[in-house]
Amino acid sequence: MDFSTTTEQQALVEAVTRFCREHLNAVSPPREGEFPWDKWRLCCDQGIPGMPIGAEYGGLGYDCLTTAMVLEALGASCTDNGLVHALVTQILTALQIQAYGTDAQKARLLPAACRGELVLAQAMTEPDAGSSTGDIRTAAVAVDGGYRLNGAKVFISNAPIAGAILVYAVTSPGANFLQKLSCFVVDAGRSGLRKGRPMAKMGLESLQNGELFFDDCPLTDADLLGRKGQGSSMFSEAMTWERVLLFATHLGRIAHVFELSVEYAKGRTQFGSAIGKYQAIANKIVDMRVDLELGRLMLYKAAWLKDQGRMAAFEASMAKLFISERLRQAAIAGLQIHGGYGSRKEYPLEGILRDAMAGTIYSGTTEIQQNIIARFCGL
Ligand SMILES: Cc1cc2nc3c(=O)[nH]c(=O)nc-3n(C[C@H](O)[C@H](O)[C@H](O)COP(=O)(O)OP(=O)(O)OC[C@H]3O[C@@H](n4cnc5c(N)ncnc54)[C@H](O)[C@@H]3O)c2cc1C
Repeated sequence: MDFSTTTEQQALVEAVTRFCREHLNAVSPPREGEFPWDKWRLCCDQGIPGMPIGAEYGGLGYDCLTTAMVLEALGASCTDNGLVHALVTQILTALQIQAYGTDAQKARLLPAACRGELVLAQAMTEPDAGSSTGDIRTAAVAVDGGYRLNGAKVFISNAPIAGAILVYAVTSPGANFLQKLSCFVVDAGRSGLRKGRPMAKMGLESLQNGELFFDDCPLTDADLLGRKGQGSSMFSEAMTWERVLLFATHLGRIAHVFELSVEYAKGRTQFGSAIGKYQAIANKIVDMRVDLELGRLMLYKAAWLKDQGRMAAFEASMAKLFISERLRQAAIAGLQIHGGYGSRKEYPLEGILRDAMAGTIYSGTTEIQQNIIARFCGL
């Protein structure tokens, strides 16, 4: 077993850390509720949306482990977690198109997505079907030359700004879950598609989440991504990628909270000693450091399995469950270490905590990860 990183991986991690600290974080935020397009464009100029996408489509062709390491550094150094989430959504959707798209779909969508000119989103969740994806009602009914799409999606990351959306819909209502769904590429300008306004939510302010409504939206056979009936297996694969790459950024955030907490615990004096000298404080920081180590081992293993072309669903679920829960815990502990200052808007901890809260919900909730892991345990 070789735990060493390559010199290229180290250089990439250093480069993205420097880019965030010296350039990205210095860009002024947009007006409240607006998407930070200036920061988005800077990240796209660095090639971030195309990291794991092939060079023939304008990407950088990194493997999963290298992409995860760079995203971890982005999560640790970029102060705008909503922007990071939007970028990872772009990467994950592009990966689906790369894996399942026809040559024509890849040529049309991927170069513009890698440049960041075309924003992408993936839509599964519905008002009455969140965890229970087998119960989605959005349906694509076959008609001459294509399909008619009807239904509604909710919570979709990037939806309000997306130019193309991967929409999961029922195409064979009578079939079992493994065969009843298909995935379509729906362009934002398509008739019959209406977007809701960005949702106000807790944390991740830059991330634009919204509803989508389909009212007899016409689709052609060329809009189908992958095969008819392949939607469920495509979605499972998308979730494995998401549980690795999105939670790489969350791992970086644990590292960030750890560093902030060490610095504060060394500098803050009470009762004549640095507060880090009190075991009650030091132990919180020790927990963060152990979680960081464990989370990294779990996540890198899942990424490595993907690079070997092996199944990684079990490992990705465990990594997602662990990292999302431990980030939330680290953010609470970090805030506690910062005392009253932790709750102030001028300090980063309260924002990190708000951003961390939904990590145990998206990409499959904590309880759903536990169900998946239980099934792998034969229960
Ligand atoms: C910031 C954010 C971004 C998102 N981005 C996207 C996106 O880009 N695309 C997309 O399609 N969706 C997206 N989602 C939606 C997300 O995937 C769902 O919110 C999530 O799957 C949970 O669904 P729900 O909210 O309907 O909760 P529900 O499924 O109604 O769950 C409610 C509670 O019941 C529990 N529960 C449900 N079933 C079980 C069970 N069988 N066993 C034990 N407990 C159970 C859940 O764990 C949860 O605690 C996003 C959500 C958020 C908050």
